Amino acid sequence: MMSQVAALEALPVEATGPRPFIRWDENPKVRLGSLGAEPPLDDLVAQLQQSVHGFAEKVMQPIGRNLDRLSAEEVIAPGSQLWAFREAYAELGITMEALATFPPNLMPDIFAILFEELGWGDAGLAISAGVDLLPHYMAAKFGNEFVFKTYPEELIGCWGITEPDHGSDSLDANGAIFHPQGTYGRPNCVAKISDGKVIISGQKSAWVSNGPIAELAILYCAAETKAGIDSSRGAVVIVPLKSLGVSKGKPLEKMGQRALPQGEIFFDNVELDIDHLIVAPEDYKKGVYAIHSEANALMGGVFTGCARAAYEHAFAYAHERKQGGVPIIRHQDVAKRLFHMARKVELSRAITRRVTTFNMLNDMPALQAAMFSKVTATQHALEVASDAVQMFGGNGVTREYPVEKIFRDARSSLIEDGCNEILSIKGGTLMVDPDLLKPTA
Ligand SMILES: Cc1cc2nc3c(=O)[nH]c(=O)nc-3n(C[C@H](O)[C@H](O)[C@H](O)COP(=O)(O)OP(=O)(O)OC[C@H]3O[C@@H](n4cnc5c(N)ncnc54)[C@H](O)[C@@H]3O)c2cc1C
Repeated sequence: MMSQVAALEALPVEATGPRPFIRWDENPKVRLGSLGAEPPLDDLVAQLQQSVHGFAEKVMQPIGRNLDRLSAEEVIAPGSQLWAFREAYAELGITMEALATFPPNLMPDIFAILFEELGWGDAGLAISAGVDLLPHYMAAKFGNEFVFKTYPEELIGCWGITEPDHGSDSLDANGAIFHPQGTYGRPNCVAKISDGKVIISGQKSAWVSNGPIAELAILYCAAETKAGIDSSRGAVVIVPLKSLGVSKGKPLEKMGQRALPQGEIFFDNVELDIDHLIVAPEDYKKGVYAIHSEANALMGGVFTGCARAAYEHAFAYAHERKQGGVPIIRHQDVAKRLFHMARKVELSRAITRRVTTFNMLNDMPALQAAMFSKVTATQHALEVASDAVQMFGGNGVTREYPVEKIFRDARSSLIEDGCNEILSIKGGTLMVDPDLLKPTA
């Protein structure tokens, strides 16, 4: 009679599914794929992954490296390769409307893999592509069809929430992390809502991603109603940035993600029809929660990809570089370092994929879960990029090799979209279950 193992081996793999009990005749020689220990992907997701990967390799990596060397002004100047990137990215057709045509059960994988591949290509350009989606994403979330009818998705998007006097506190609309003696103080930007109009005055911080090139903003700011100004009950407004009264500051010079333009936006009595109000003051906290859950998960994908790029460079270098007569990969400490780098990439990917799956298949996303993903992936990206620099030895700190740039790109991510320490405090407050704190007696 055929043994159970032989019977299993005789069956085609598709018929048997996972095969945990195969006899080991030889030393295992298993290679992980570019996405690590990835189970087979759905055909549609696999095709998307391959085409975005090709784009990241052929377009994003070389353009990202070139833009990194330019001044912030040169990055946004006419004729800069930033525009070539944007044109080529537009051809991929990744819009909210296109994404809505994918089967919903594939969306979590599509979202996480798309942003991992873009982050692998260039973290700054990936964030630029990600924030592009946010105005229409928020319009879709809050059922505002006017935005889709009036403003094409091709417009360059941005998200303006932080202000010169409000960074961390602007991401904490319910005041959960405020110091007990703290007050919000004066907002730098206010939307006055009255008589069927929204009138915006003030400014957003120099940190608005895509700010200098954006054409459409999703603006989060304090609201002034008949009851006065209450910064905890703000407004979320779609603002076409060609409107009368909008102006912009100079693009900011920063340490990493230099392909991502960053800059202030000023509003001088910018008057818009009330249709532009996406979220009214009574729902402001929901509005902050909605965008932050999305943005933090997006960051998880991008910085998984950024860490993976650093790991792959280190892996290749460890096989090429010889010291003491052997490739450095033969030195046990180098192999051990690579192991921990790969482990961290795999962990970032796993947590991001789990969070996008959980959040997209639930009626309401868990912000604290999105924060798990952002904090883990960005912290790992910094650690993996730092290990890559170390593995390259002296070459690691020169601009001749790619890991120096990736290290700088990764560093900003611990601050971007909320400092990791703030996200951890805020995430912790979301984990308080009042029911468990009730006295049992
Ligand atoms: C690359 C990049 C891209 C960005 N993109 C955007 C964008 O697209 N749109 C946008 O609006 N903004 C953007 N930002 C701004 C970003 O969200 C803020 O920089 C971030 O929220 C921190 O605010 P801050 O810089 O004002 O720091 P602050 O809030 O001044 O914090 C300074 C330090 O104090 C600590 N701290 C502050 N409050 C507390 C507290 N309650 N408890 C404990 N510690 C505290 C912080 O952790 C931090 O270490 C971006 C920033 C970067 C770096």
